[in-house]
Amino acid sequence: MKKQRVNYFLQRRVPIEPDGFVRPIRAVPHAMFLDKELIPTIRMTEQAHGKMMALIQECPIEIGWLSSCERDGGEFLINDVFVPHQECTMASTRITKDGMANLLNELRANEAGKEAIRTLLCWGHSHVEMEVFASSIDEHQTEKLLIEHRKQDHYIRLIGNKRGDMFASVYFLDQKIVVHHPNLLLPKIENTNRWMEWAKQEIAGKVAQETISFENFGELELNLNEVNRKTLDSWLKAKLISHELYDDILNEKEAGVVHEKPRRF
Ligand SMILES: [Zn+2]
Repeated sequence: MKKQRVNYFLQRRVPIEPDGFVRPIRAVPHAMFLDKELIPTIRMTEQAHGKMMALIQECPIEIGWLSSCERDGGEFLINDVFVPHQECTMASTRITKDGMANLLNELRANEAGKEAIRTLLCWGHSHVEMEVFASSIDEHQTEKLLIEHRKQDHYIRLIGNKRGDMFASVYFLDQKIVVHHPNLLLPKIENTNRWMEWAKQEIAGKVAQETISFENFGELELNLNEVNRKTLDSWLKAKLISHELYDDILNEKEAGVVHEKPRRF
């Protein structure tokens, strides 16, 4: 007898007597642009692109920054990158209150800085070697930023990594819509070394490193399957994780224990 391919959904739905309309199984609300021209576009100046690349390449752990950004309809231009004082681990970054106050004071000192404050509507951070998904810590931080800037019409979030992946999101705050992965039109960086020295100094002066131990490990949404021995070794060498945590992760990886999300130790 010839085997028949049966559509899974039909198989599930057909025998059921309908008593009204419902959304099909597994359908989730989503929006689409009917016209590609309407998809927002993020552009960057060479300076902004170069500084972000340099920060991500130079920093062995997460690092965050704020950017000035202008909007013209659906077009966004990121002008510059500013690094506030922050506390970071290999999987989190937190701008301190003092860090934010100091940055604003620095910017207030000149006209260009004052203009930047007015348009400081972009937050970016690095995921180092990891995928550029938004962790629950990221979503929580984003929510706080969006509430803080609710009187503005837009806000941009960027998550980058050393491989050059960039997860961009444009929040249209006035319309309560977010567009993930808009068009990215970025200029070629002519001299990649140009911002390296700047990045080194910013990192040395503004990024405070927090060592991860058993106590605070569970707060990080790390997928241990993605962490290889080489990464673990580099974390240990950089004193990003304690020896005890290193041994524990390694033992579990070798024993084939798979964590979707790390447990709280
Ligand atoms: Zn993140």
